[in-house]
Amino acid sequence: MRLDNQRESQNVEDRRGGTMLRGSVGIGTLVIALAASYFLGIDPALIMDSGSGTSTPSPAGRPARAPATKDEMTSFVSRVLGSTEIVWHDIFQQAGRRYQEPKLVLFTGATPTACGTGRSALGPFYCPADQKVYIDLAFYRDLQERFRAPGEFAQAYVIAHEVAHHVQNLLGISAKIHAAQQGGGRQAAANELSVRLELQADCFAGVWGHRADTMQQIVEPGEMEQALAAAAAIGDDRLQRQTQGQVVPESFTHGTSRQRVRWFKRGMDSGDVRQCDTFSPESL
Ligand SMILES: [Zn+2]
Repeated sequence: MRLDNQRESQNVEDRRGGTMLRGSVGIGTLVIALAASYFLGIDPALIMDSGSGTSTPSPAGRPARAPATKDEMTSFVSRVLGSTEIVWHDIFQQAGRRYQEPKLVLFTGATPTACGTGRSALGPFYCPADQKVYIDLAFYRDLQERFRAPGEFAQAYVIAHEVAHHVQNLLGISAKIHAAQQGGGRQAAANELSVRLELQADCFAGVWGHRADTMQQIVEPGEMEQALAAAAAIGDDRLQRQTQGQVVPESFTHGTSRQRVRWFKRGMDSGDVRQCDTFSPESL
């Protein structure tokens, strides 16, 4: 990606080597993580507190120590986040609204969040209660090695997807969906709403890609394909096949590879959030 002219966001909080919780990541967590698949996004509390009824927010935002030395990866993440800020400020402004920037927390292993303890085994996620995106950069190694989806634009897409969950939060979309999910009813129906929310986040991520590229020509040849490969690699169907050897559509919470690619592409091609209504169509 070409990010040389992109200013770094001031909203990155580096907790690596600082106040991380050295909790052991147990087998249980790993099993849940695999079943839940990556890119949790909208509500880690659903996973982390599953079964416990109401979730108790833990005190979050313990002051981080002095940030670790600025490495290349931190700079990359800060620039991508900075780029999402420009794009979403612009889109919100055009709609007569104000965009509130989310924070992005870098951590290793585990860290306290307002949604419970965040663990890297769960993949990157967004916590609506503290409006922060959490990412353990080790995920990028997974993306490259385990999911065979290398490339900077693929890495940027991961951040854009989580920021998209923040946008859904600001727009009140996630709250509506959660209310609908809690209204009782079948688990399959709740899962389908999750899928629609996730696919919309993919579409919003695409909108960011389109706008950022139009404004600053950040995407280099071949990188679009890399991001699509990342979207495909983390579809529920492919993850399930890898982890349990079979595919159970009713348990999907993020969408199939094909769906994820389709909606990301739709946002990327159009650059228009109105193209991201994943809740109306019968088929996705
Ligand atoms: Zn997500």
